[in-house]
Amino acid sequence: MRNINQAYIDGRFVTVQGHEVVQRINPSTEAIVGRVTLANRDDAIDAIAAATRAQVTMARTTKAQRIDMLKRLQAAVLASTEQLRDSAIEEYGAPLARAQWASQYASQCFANAAQTLTDYELERNIGGARVFMEPVGVVGLIAPWNSAAGTICSKLASAIAAGCASVIKPSELSAFQAQVLAQTLHRADLPNGVFNFVLGRGQDVGDEISTSPHIAKISFTGSTQTGKLIAHAGIDTMKRISLSLTGKSAAIVLEDADFDLALPLALNAAFMNNGQACVAGTRLLVPRSRLSEVVERIKALVDGIVVGNPHDPATVIGPLASEAQYDRIQHFIRRGQEQGATLIAGGEGKPAGLETGYFVQPTVFANVSQDMDIAREEIFGPVLSILTYDNEAQAIELANATVYGLQAYLFSSSHERAQRMATELKAGTVLINRVVPDLLAPFGGVKQSGLGREFGVFGLESYLEAKTVASS
Ligand code: NAD
Repeated sequence: MRNINQAYIDGRFVTVQGHEVVQRINPSTEAIVGRVTLANRDDAIDAIAAATRAQVTMARTTKAQRIDMLKRLQAAVLASTEQLRDSAIEEYGAPLARAQWASQYASQCFANAAQTLTDYELERNIGGARVFMEPVGVVGLIAPWNSAAGTICSKLASAIAAGCASVIKPSELSAFQAQVLAQTLHRADLPNGVFNFVLGRGQDVGDEISTSPHIAKISFTGSTQTGKLIAHAGIDTMKRISLSLTGKSAAIVLEDADFDLALPLALNAAFMNNGQACVAGTRLLVPRSRLSEVVERIKALVDGIVVGNPHDPATVIGPLASEAQYDRIQHFIRRGQEQGATLIAGGEGKPAGLETGYFVQPTVFANVSQDMDIAREEIFGPVLSILTYDNEAQAIELANATVYGLQAYLFSSSHERAQRMATELKAGTVLINRVVPDLLAPFGGVKQSGLGREFGVFGLESYLEAKTVASS
């Protein structure tokens, strides 16, 4: 049983001033594994003050000093890969391979930011003026529960590269992962206050960060609903805002695709991270003429998916993160049936033999139409909807028929055709015949999937302000 009651402020672990206690439950066993005392608004105020003090020196750091900080952070996270992996499995139910990848990704973020900064000109001549790319100021980094370490490290890496001190607000549902990460980053021995961790409620700690006049920018990853609240809250102090939000991504399989390669990849895109991924490709668009073949193949593939203990290397899908997530998925499976979709795999209830834990059956619906809830709303669990199209134009129209636009997947044996279609898709990223992102290229959403871009040079620039100095 872990007891967590500390925030990380000004380089020290301090007892939080908040009194609300929440339990952490291992989603595989439903056992209570921790008690967390949440930080409150006063803790957030202290963290913002510490970051504001640190910003004075942080703003004056050289490129070389920031690169040194990033390398120390990378080394610290790399050395703790196993602890980060294990906390993600215990608290969140991430399958071993996914948890391993996510922990390595967390250290890679710092290496990528160091490389980006090395190649970036912080000063340049434009016209007759000298332009300086200066840190925006203190930043608030607000993260969701579904990819805690990766999201935090990615944001923190860009912030440090730009010369910004930060206040990090992890989700109240990722206390173990946040604690291991704070302890890990502390070992990098950065100046006090350069980064601070405050784990508390969104309407309390999150709101203080979103409204404080001392915070210049918010980088938020989470739901579109919360992103809108943060954007509203931040406007009075004219905060710079980056939002990485909800998705409902389409995976288009063209008739010229190699189905042996495309369908397992498409299923992976839908079910990665136990289906709890913003970039999940949860709408599979296939040629109408090939529907029965696709259905047979997908059924066989889903039958082969191992659901169960996330520590087991054979497991592909572990439990959902919480009982609320379990209930949400059951609701959508019921809704799909009520609205007339055809259940071809999975369904309501727990998989046989997994009565304890928040396990759900990987579920696939065919004959889904775009007006059904399962085709329109982000489900955030392993539930895939198959829709059909008659021609390329209709495939694009269906893919774009959503208020979201985070990512899209295309499967085709024609490079030219896929590239051409990619230009028509309204999404921040289009992945062709792959599901793995490029971590140096910009990442973010169009429409209600977000505002701004993260990663690489686009991520770095979102923490910088251009200052023009022109003289006669
Ligand atoms: P959420 O929006 O409920 O919470 C995200 C964070 O915001 C948490 O730390 C929460 O405490 C905080 N928060 C809540 N209310 C707040 C407020 N009023 N002010 C400030 N902060 C507040 O999201 P979640 O349930 O933790 O995560 C799942 C969602 O995140 C999904 O919609 C998913 O698609 C999205 N997501 C997007 C990306 C991406 O990169 N686009 C990545 C991961 C998750």
